[in-house]
Amino acid sequence: MPVVAGFDLGGTQIKYGLVDDAGMILFKDKTPTPPTIRELMALIGSRWEDLKKRTPGSIAAAGFGIPGIYNIKKKRIFQSPNYSDLDNFDLYPAIAERIDAPFLVDNDANVAAFGEWKHGAGRGVTSLVFLTIGTGIGGGIILGDKLWQGSCGYAAEIGHVVVNPSGELCKCGIRGCLETEASAPAIVRKYQALAGRGAPVTTEDIYYRARDGEPAAREAFARAGTFLGIGLGMLINLLNPEKILLGGGVMTTGEFLLGPAVEEARKRSYPATFACCDIGRASLGNDAGLIGAAAWGRENLKPGEILE
Ligand SMILES: [Zn+2]
Repeated sequence: MPVVAGFDLGGTQIKYGLVDDAGMILFKDKTPTPPTIRELMALIGSRWEDLKKRTPGSIAAAGFGIPGIYNIKKKRIFQSPNYSDLDNFDLYPAIAERIDAPFLVDNDANVAAFGEWKHGAGRGVTSLVFLTIGTGIGGGIILGDKLWQGSCGYAAEIGHVVVNPSGELCKCGIRGCLETEASAPAIVRKYQALAGRGAPVTTEDIYYRARDGEPAAREAFARAGTFLGIGLGMLINLLNPEKILLGGGVMTTGEFLLGPAVEEARKRSYPATFACCDIGRASLGNDAGLIGAAAWGRENLKPGEILE
């Protein structure tokens, strides 16, 4: 059974591990993301050597999920919001120096979508939209049984679709993106404005307050959920997807966000199109990026290469 390696590179930590062809994690670990690209590449090399020792056979392939807009033509990160050292870095030769197996790179949310489709709650559908809602909002789209990368590789930046033209300025430079309205920091900002309190809180705190019946907490989720629903309505009318899966840290906060989002999506899409779209939760949790990166690496293999 060929084993593949997955690397999920985040702004603060790197998750990596070995995954089998059923999507089962055979080994995983994480390590802080080093501050420079030189150290990052050295770390990838050392972790690769470590992974090779953890499986009796060889590792057939590797996949990398990287935060940022990845150009599939130039095979470079065009822009990474949380790791600017990656911007325009010539990634493939640097990784090829350290990894003696075929490998593939893509945006972290794209590979997470691929993972949910291959091994998670998206199994068996031919079209899927995946959104991960946390500090930011990322997305990935499967169309016709393929990861839809777009012409340059920049597809599925769902977090930067405008849902509120008069909303706040996003760090991408656009005003009123889904990310500025429904990400974890957006929910916190809404709650603080409604509650009239500036003390630091997390979405988890707000969830507990909503569960206890605090109106400002419920309203903060409802307002974020409404904007999320506007985004979902656009996706439903545009793509007619079989399934939309929502994942990421914010999705652990129960129905307070999802309920209003689904209701708004229903109001803002064709009834027939809405009716044939199943909106639910992603199932791979924090492992979606790692499992997806590994599955994406496996996708690189030709059928003959899978035999061991
Ligand atoms: Zn934006």
